[in-house]
Amino acid sequence: MKTATLNKGKEKKYLNHYPLIDQADLYAHDHLKEVDIFQLVTDAGSYIATAYVGHQHKGLGWVLSYDQTEDINASFFVNLFEEAQAERDYFYHIEGTNAFRLFNAEGDGVGGLTIDNYDGHLLIQWYSKGIYKFRYLILQAIRQVFDYTSIYEKMRFPNHTHEGGFVEGDAPEFPIIIEENFTFYNVNLDDGMMTGLFLDQKDVRKKLRDHFASQRDVLNLFSYTGAFSVVAANEAKTTTSVDLANRSRELTEENFGINGIDPETQYIYVMDTFDYYRYAERHGITYDTIVIDPPSFARNKKKTFSVQKDYDKLIEGALNIVAPQGTLLLCTNHSEFTKKQFKSVIKQTLNNAGVDFEFAEVMGLPKDFKTHPHYKPSKYLKAIFVQLK
Ligand code: SAH
Repeated sequence: MKTATLNKGKEKKYLNHYPLIDQADLYAHDHLKEVDIFQLVTDAGSYIATAYVGHQHKGLGWVLSYDQTEDINASFFVNLFEEAQAERDYFYHIEGTNAFRLFNAEGDGVGGLTIDNYDGHLLIQWYSKGIYKFRYLILQAIRQVFDYTSIYEKMRFPNHTHEGGFVEGDAPEFPIIIEENFTFYNVNLDDGMMTGLFLDQKDVRKKLRDHFASQRDVLNLFSYTGAFSVVAANEAKTTTSVDLANRSRELTEENFGINGIDPETQYIYVMDTFDYYRYAERHGITYDTIVIDPPSFARNKKKTFSVQKDYDKLIEGALNIVAPQGTLLLCTNHSEFTKKQFKSVIKQTLNNAGVDFEFAEVMGLPKDFKTHPHYKPSKYLKAIFVQLK
């Protein structure tokens, strides 16, 4: 087997189970290519871990095992999938939810691979060419461990030769309707990079519905298919969904429809968030709860937007149209924008504006998105309910 030798002094990090191998920590390696499994060794040549080459987040690849005798074969994946499934036992037995993550990359032992379950329809996401090379073994293991109706896949790495989509099983007619905490959502596993619902926000949606929606005017910015609006609608006085993409209107209307809510009773705007801020301000419209869940980067007209650089502007805009004692739900899923930085941007922006506030809830990933204890970026989701006073 090929080896990669660490620089002297770097062994501690990997002996402590840091899962992503940083190229800069390596002293030398045997011409590793994106097909290879290799042994990570200390400068003295002693074994630390078995890893695969898959370029992601500036890393060379991910650790698979700390057992020198372990083969990376179908039963290796079977064991991990069985373990992951056992840990999701809760989701198989609760009522009102049939969509959740089955396998969460490095959190469950294989960086670069996720598997989601949408009511029996599985979605595999491949995050590097390297992990995609294990496709045959991984499919074998999935067949052995999971019950499913169909399997779909998405390629989340550049320069792939195959487009993804249907893999096997009984193909449903999309959209399928899934259920999460007794709310219904349309999902399409075979249309672009997004499915219609971000499963990682399930706890945050529930929190919004249960604590920050009742009798309120709720504004949902960057609303996509309207998931936050739909979950809030039964409790809320009104919901308003704002998204730049044309098709968000129809997708949002359909999500209201499958929950027995007449979309005509809700407000939907196809508009840039900052334009909407100006529009609402001009018309003196205010909201009791404002949800801000933007993409990490966006481009509109001539402007570019990045959450790290521009989150303060999103908060400032919201402050102009929030009702007294209102709530802001501020989210980011950018892994390089840490919780600490995010909190500090929020605090600074609100302090500069002279606003009195408290963090009512600081939330992260739900438990089906199992994270890695020694790899901070795996806790990428930050969702903070800020209560204004
Ligand atoms: N909050 C959503 C997910 C957001 S996905 C949810 O809970 O499901 C990001 C969305 O932001 C996309 O639908 C995209 O069309 C929209 N978007 C990007 N730039 C925007 C802008 N400047 N104003 C409004 N929407 C924007």
